[in-house]
Amino acid sequence: MEVDDIETITVLGAGTMGHGIAEVAALAGYDVNLRDINEELVEEGYEQIEWSLNKLAENDRISEDAAEDSIDRITPVVDLEEAVEDTDVVIEAIVERMDIKQEVYEDLSEYAPDHTIFASNTSSLSITDLADVTDRPEQVCGMHFFNPPVRMELVEVISGGDTSDETMDTIVDLAEAFDKTPVRVRKDEPGFIVNSILVPLMNEACWIVEEDIATIREVDSTTKYDIGLPMGAFELGDQVGNDVSLHVLNYMNEVLGEAYEPSPLLVRTVENEKLGKKTGEGFYDYNNGGADVPADAQSDEVKERLMAALANETGKLIQKDVAPPADIDKAVKLGAAFPKGPAKACDEFGLEALVEKLDELYEESGAARYEVSDGLREAAEEGGFYGEAEEEDDGIEFEAIQVDYPTEMVGQIILDRPHQLNTVNPEMLDDVEAALDMFEEDDDIRAVLITGAGDRAFSAGADAMGMAGSANPIDAVELSRRGQEVWGKLEEAPMPVVAGIDGFCLGGGMELSMCADMRIASERSEFGQPEFNLGLLPGWGGTQRLSNIVGEGIAKEIIFTADRYEAEEMEDYGFVNEVVDNDELEEAAVELADDLARGPPIAMEYTKRAMLAGRDDTDAGLETEAFAFGHLVTTDDVMEGITKFMGDEEPEFKGK
Ligand code: NAD
Repeated sequence: MEVDDIETITVLGAGTMGHGIAEVAALAGYDVNLRDINEELVEEGYEQIEWSLNKLAENDRISEDAAEDSIDRITPVVDLEEAVEDTDVVIEAIVERMDIKQEVYEDLSEYAPDHTIFASNTSSLSITDLADVTDRPEQVCGMHFFNPPVRMELVEVISGGDTSDETMDTIVDLAEAFDKTPVRVRKDEPGFIVNSILVPLMNEACWIVEEDIATIREVDSTTKYDIGLPMGAFELGDQVGNDVSLHVLNYMNEVLGEAYEPSPLLVRTVENEKLGKKTGEGFYDYNNGGADVPADAQSDEVKERLMAALANETGKLIQKDVAPPADIDKAVKLGAAFPKGPAKACDEFGLEALVEKLDELYEESGAARYEVSDGLREAAEEGGFYGEAEEEDDGIEFEAIQVDYPTEMVGQIILDRPHQLNTVNPEMLDDVEAALDMFEEDDDIRAVLITGAGDRAFSAGADAMGMAGSANPIDAVELSRRGQEVWGKLEEAPMPVVAGIDGFCLGGGMELSMCADMRIASERSEFGQPEFNLGLLPGWGGTQRLSNIVGEGIAKEIIFTADRYEAEEMEDYGFVNEVVDNDELEEAAVELADDLARGPPIAMEYTKRAMLAGRDDTDAGLETEAFAFGHLVTTDDVMEGITKFMGDEEPEFKGK
């Protein structure tokens, strides 16, 4: 069966995950049967979906019609036979118990049509063992969503021992049809990818504290402010649930051996029912202020030990052919909001040093968890998980954008998170900055064009996930400054910058477009500063730059109402320079950028500089203008311009 043949999906279990998965499937246009063991539980799940869809509509994430259509596609069912007798895919999200799940899979084999695929959302059980009790092990795989499924982009698609390639392909395609990013997990490894990286990391954090190497706060300070993870290791543990981590760890310990022996600190914490945020207390007390991670208690020893744990686990996954480094990185970035994947981060740290550290720790303690995996040792010998070749390659690797050269003189930045409506995360800020530096150093590039990948959005704003942790005012100030700074670089770029806008141009995305010198938009584009809806303000330059373009009166209207504006209205306001047909946007934007690229580079740079300098100080602007004028008359470009003007020919400016 191929993905196009799928019409009906049955989700088993209407709990935390089941209701979310059903919502995702219905939003993607599938008919969904939602099944739980009694009427009340199914109803509860159904109502949660209704609530969530309404919330999405209220926040303008989807239209009211889409919310209504989605809920209409969901049928609550209690009878298992009725739920699956006419379904193409079953996604199972019932309690995490092998015996109960296996019973259900036996029934499924009896009631579901022969072609139906069974996909389990289990976090830690063996897909092969689940498949074994069915009449179709080649049509059983894992489809592991992250909580909450509506917001989390990653889906691990796991091959059991007997899963066919066809089944894997269909479920990978289905995850894409759900607007998610699938990562293939080629082996049925305990913890799959994300948990088999995260859980040993948390365990190592616990061992460090258990052995008095550092305190919880020191470990978290290092994890957050030195390694740069979105939260401290213990904070993360509390968020995931310490019982969940221990459960996965016990399973790893049982299957993979003593390298995964749970640290006594973790065991005690669970025994004391300090399960984390969900119970109000874990390593931190959430009824009394929660995690307060200091920025200044970092330790090199802690960093080395944690990085070594990351490297060792990454090495094991590669060695067992569970996934290649790039997939491991993708999964951990999306599933755990790591800014860099473990393979990349460890490569940057230096694998040799990490191997040395592990060897030293193993020699001292004899603990199995410090035994260097063959995968890590080999990677260290080859110069990194990504190999020496890539490390030596000076080329910049972009993660959240693509760079293109549509004409000889135009450098294009394509915001490349189409499944997230090109929302801006910290990596995108870094990438845009690096791309700009690269273009500025390249004498051939005379104009920059910025567009969004896909046909839904230029950029729908800042990424909510990337904001995790910014509830802290100091972090939030930094986040605002960072956005202001990077967008500001665009404004200050010596060459002309064009924004080619197709689709949503909202919030932080619209603030990015404010830093372009010209904006060209497709008819279907929608603009807005929705920050007031969230109780925020447009914090990446919106309070300043919008007025510069449309005047203070209209800027206030746009920000205060938080309304959506059509492209043509924004053209009337002078924000958009030109509106074109939807399918002509890309071509028209390239043409405009190329046209501007052919202008006189030095005059362009000084004009931009003078206009910027004069924004709040006309005299300074006029002064810059006068000096620039004096400089220009001495350039070759002016000779070229005047000569060609006299001869009625097109000038070829050289920037000299
Ligand atoms: P949950 O307890 O919230 O929901 C489980 C639901 O399954 C309950 O409503 C229960 O009544 C129902 N159920 C039990 N037996 C059933 C049966 N025979 N048929 C149909 N429904 C039945 O649990 P959850 O957190 O949603 O977890 C479900 C699955 O998803 C587990 O395998 C878990 O490991 C996995 N998972 C959970 C998370 C998470 O963060 N909660 C993340 C990824 C995966």
